[in-house]
Amino acid sequence: MRYGLVADIHGNLEALETVLKALSKESIDRYISLGDIVGYGAEPEACVALVRSLEPMASIAGNHEWGALALTDIENFNEYAREAILWTRRVLSRECLEYLRSFKLVCEGGRFTMVHGSLNSPERFSYILDIDDAHENMKSMTAPVCFIGHTHFAEIFYCEDGKLKRVAGSGVKIRKDGRYVVNVGSVGQPRDGDPRAAYAVYDDEKETVEIERVSYDIESASRKIIKEGLPERLALRLFEGR
Ligand code: ZN
Repeated sequence: MRYGLVADIHGNLEALETVLKALSKESIDRYISLGDIVGYGAEPEACVALVRSLEPMASIAGNHEWGALALTDIENFNEYAREAILWTRRVLSRECLEYLRSFKLVCEGGRFTMVHGSLNSPERFSYILDIDDAHENMKSMTAPVCFIGHTHFAEIFYCEDGKLKRVAGSGVKIRKDGRYVVNVGSVGQPRDGDPRAAYAVYDDEKETVEIERVSYDIESASRKIIKEGLPERLALRLFEGR
């Protein structure tokens, strides 16, 4: 089975469409969204509808879904995120919000686990920023692989033969005796210095994970953010990938 994994789409329809076009050439059997379809970007409803149309699909909740649903305190969000989530709450249809409410915080997929932030208190959306955070997460893992998003950094942390390693972007071969925390990166607002949209392909027969990048129409996505009266910083950062 081949899985197409996306995270942190953040209402960026241009980026999402471009990623899905790339994934359509990858013989994907199942799609996975690792949270934060909404927030920051100008087209949250359209992005949710597009993700929802992918079959079969598993979708887990991110802090921006929980923010839109008022399930988490947005006082913890930075000012741009807070302003954007208040706008997002206003523009999402009731039906869309009900759909977001159906997302779980953690999903088990057999040989892998999915969570937006971290397995340690998933409802608190902690960040896995370094090898120590990843190691903590590995202690809660029952499967060899855990797919995450949240930091908007495409990178893989892994433990093989008792050694912890970190690799940016690229891919990894899964060993049954290893532990892998795979951050698939962000579709709609990358922050790892590469403004191209990120996504991943997991092949559970070949036991490979590949992180991919694709250029999209940043100009158009950022113009829509300005047009909706969202913070200008949210438009500018797309070009920087920060
Ligand atoms: Zn996010």
